[in-house]
Amino acid sequence: MALLIRNADIVTVGARVRADIFAENETITRIGDNLEAPANAEIIDAAGKLVFPGFIDPHVHIYLPFMATFAKDTHETASIAALIGGTTTYIEMCCPNRNDDALEGYQFWKSKAEGKSACDYAFHMSVTKFVKETDSQLRQVVADGTASFKIFLAYKNFFGVDDGEMYQTLELAKRLGVIVTAHCENAELVARLQQKLLAEGKTGPEWHEPSRPESVEAEGTGRFATFLENTAATGYVVHLSCEKALQAALAAKSRGVKIHVESVIPHFLLDKSYAERPGVEGMKHVMSPPLRAKHNQTALWNALALGTIDTVGTDHCPFDTEQKLLGKDSFVNIPNGIPGIEDRVNLMYTHGVKRGRLDLDRFVDAASTRAAKLFGLFPRKGTIAVGSDADLVVYDTNYRGVVSAKSQHVNNDYNGFEGMEIEGRPSVVTVRGKVQVRDGKFIGERGRGRMLKREPAHF
Ligand SMILES: [Zn+2]
Repeated sequence: MALLIRNADIVTVGARVRADIFAENETITRIGDNLEAPANAEIIDAAGKLVFPGFIDPHVHIYLPFMATFAKDTHETASIAALIGGTTTYIEMCCPNRNDDALEGYQFWKSKAEGKSACDYAFHMSVTKFVKETDSQLRQVVADGTASFKIFLAYKNFFGVDDGEMYQTLELAKRLGVIVTAHCENAELVARLQQKLLAEGKTGPEWHEPSRPESVEAEGTGRFATFLENTAATGYVVHLSCEKALQAALAAKSRGVKIHVESVIPHFLLDKSYAERPGVEGMKHVMSPPLRAKHNQTALWNALALGTIDTVGTDHCPFDTEQKLLGKDSFVNIPNGIPGIEDRVNLMYTHGVKRGRLDLDRFVDAASTRAAKLFGLFPRKGTIAVGSDADLVVYDTNYRGVVSAKSQHVNNDYNGFEGMEIEGRPSVVTVRGKVQVRDGKFIGERGRGRMLKREPAHF
């Protein structure tokens, strides 16, 4: 099937051109003026709209057994929500825990997604222990096309690794050319502070943030950076939330450590007062690292504009109201996470580009291109060029709306961004040349998504 997009105002990193885009056999084959198309081609007139490369969410959880329950989405619901919001590729955290066999976990995660996702996807392979068979198992995972790892410095005895295991993971990653993503919080301090607060009778969601303060994240970030420095591996800090942790990452960067930084959309727009709301309203905004004091948002937006924060993901991880209430007697039992996969692009465009905090170039880079480059997807994904997959977002900058759980496609009964304004949304979204979304509705083919095989590139 062929696709012709006419009058496209094409926005890619470093360029803005007006042209037609023609795609055939899933791939962009021509970009130019007044292109001809065969009679059976689907033709879209993009006049008055922007055309972006399909957006990439580098950090999502879909299948996830966690904190005595499971995240709510399936690959079907999450991928449709992603596409409606302009995200055409997501990278899911494959998260077997310490008691699971890593390779069995990897196969299981793959089987959950296969044939279910409506858009393309890849995995970060979590390393949650380092035992005799880990070396050979991780080599098999990388040979299968999953060329990035994830480690957790938090969640002791479940997902978390100790310093020795972190060292072994980074050493192997360096040899294999694999980038290592890391959740950076000090597990010991989190556990101690939780116990201390609970002993003082402080059990509500407002105590989640004080149990994992900024200094605890800055320590994790700095320690990860020091381990990168001494293994020469390449790292990527996930969901960085505050200025203190950012300074730790930037200090490492300035001494030549290969460290990249992701922040996630909640930390740009929500602050800790949301988690301080009484009862379940506060619980809905519990995630880790926690929502922070508002002044951090300025630091995050500025670093994003400069590119010292490389990417914006979501850490999409929906738990519904009933699940959040598992923590009604103690904040340590509130399932951590909020949804975001559907709203990330529109929120970034509105509160970043439209509010003058971010230029278009950096917006496309942070929401698509940079993740493609770091994670071995470029130039197949993350740009609009001859030879790239025809993942395109025709974006209507005149759309006006409001984020609401009532209209969302994520499988959850609340939205953490409820009531926020949206000034723009995708009008057409394609996956490898096929129109999957039109004006907020999924009209495409379920299960069209494929797992993307990636080559190691960080030697
Ligand atoms: Zn995560």
